[in-house]
Amino acid sequence: MMENNNNRRQFIKNAAMLGVAGLVIPSFLKGSSQESILSHTEMVDDFFSLPMLGYGYDALEPHIDTLTMQIHHSRHHQAYVTNLNNAMKQNNIDASLEDLLKNTAKYPSVVRNNAGGHWNHTYFWKAIKPNAGGAPKGKIADAINGTFENFEKFKELFADAAMKRFGSGWAWLVKTSDGKLMITSTPNQDNPLMDVAEVKGTPVLGIDVWEHAYYLHYQNKRADYINAWWNVVNWEYAGSLL
Ligand code: MN
Repeated sequence: MMENNNNRRQFIKNAAMLGVAGLVIPSFLKGSSQESILSHTEMVDDFFSLPMLGYGYDALEPHIDTLTMQIHHSRHHQAYVTNLNNAMKQNNIDASLEDLLKNTAKYPSVVRNNAGGHWNHTYFWKAIKPNAGGAPKGKIADAINGTFENFEKFKELFADAAMKRFGSGWAWLVKTSDGKLMITSTPNQDNPLMDVAEVKGTPVLGIDVWEHAYYLHYQNKRADYINAWWNVVNWEYAGSLL
């Protein structure tokens, strides 16, 4: 999904080059087509863009409040996207988001922070939804029960990792390369896809425990936010990542 950005850029680059090379344009279209080629050429500079939420800012009330969702998505996530695009340009980097994460160690920290921020939030919006939560079903329930005894025990361990992450960061349920489920947490905007992560693997479930994710409504009560977040977990999406 995230590689579409690169394909789109390549397509736009090609389209722009064709324009420059003198693509035959019927004269009655010339004015507007030239204009649209120019405006699309500017998009070549944008590697990544803010994804839409699949629901309204108010859809997760009362568990996650409207203002928090609005600021979190339209300002915080947007800032990661903007800063990442700028960092790509300034450092002459052309790579997919997945490649940036896999090779974080070789890039400047501005790339690590903002590529992580973009990936993590894009993931986070999909991993929650209205009228969700409860206990997982099917394959993911079996995997959780098989690894952590039962769902209640898993919730306890996951919430504990989220509580103990000092400062800003994330807690994750990860599927490691040998197929095991593990709970881990990462600082700042790091994630388990990064070469620098302590525990590497595919994120299955992840919670943002930066204060910006909860402070407006829950103030310093991170535990209350985590409790509420269980009510919006999109288990079908998490299950699809196993
Ligand atoms: Mn966040």
